[in-house]
Amino acid sequence: MKRGLFKASAVILNSLDYSESDRILTFYTLEHGKITGIAKGARRSRKRFVGNIEPASRIDLVFFHNDKSALVRVEDATLIDAHPALKSDIERLSQACYLLELVAEMTREGQHLPGVFNLLTEFLKLLEAGSGDPVLRFFEIRLLSMLGYLPHLDGCVVCRKPFTAEERLFFSSEKGGTVCKRCAAAAGSVAAVSAGTARLLSMAARFDTGKLARLKPGPAFLDESEEILYDFIKFQIGKELKTKRFMTKLKNSSL
Ligand SMILES: [Zn+2]
Repeated sequence: MKRGLFKASAVILNSLDYSESDRILTFYTLEHGKITGIAKGARRSRKRFVGNIEPASRIDLVFFHNDKSALVRVEDATLIDAHPALKSDIERLSQACYLLELVAEMTREGQHLPGVFNLLTEFLKLLEAGSGDPVLRFFEIRLLSMLGYLPHLDGCVVCRKPFTAEERLFFSSEKGGTVCKRCAAAAGSVAAVSAGTARLLSMAARFDTGKLARLKPGPAFLDESEEILYDFIKFQIGKELKTKRFMTKLKNSSL
């Protein structure tokens, strides 16, 4: 990026208070991928964009980039969509924050992927409509695919043997995909997974968001895919996600 003033369509990934009156924000933008910026005076109410820079909100951003600083300077933010239905429901809000944290943790600055911006905006809308858990799994697999981390799901990743419909399979984050029973014995930590779950994930990775409603996941898919995808994501980024821990707590407290 050259020095100068830029416009971008952005989703706010996170926001952090900084010094007396400033805020540090991370955005995923359609035009420049992930960027981090400082909003000077953002905590003083006289700045016109104060209410427009909350996480998950979609904005039109104007920022100044100076090649000497890693942070851009936020000049203006016009609210396009605040996702009010997300922000009025703690469960939906926590799911949205999970998508934001996933994008923040799995992408890097300087990597420009318009598909990630589109995926995020489409899925925030789906969560707002109350689509719930299957949507999170479809988001995970699509994001992994876009970032080049799609696990191997069609056959055994070790011996390359194709699977039969009724076969008992396993998933190994370390090996990078599904493994057959024989290879699982030497693969270290594995989780059991059905052929149906592997097949559904493999399809979801290739489907446009509009087509995902055609997939009808059952309870076995939801349990298995949540376990293997989160384990795989943790393996890729090398840490736990804060929002995942919060979602788990929230789920357990409502039982
Ligand atoms: Zn094998």
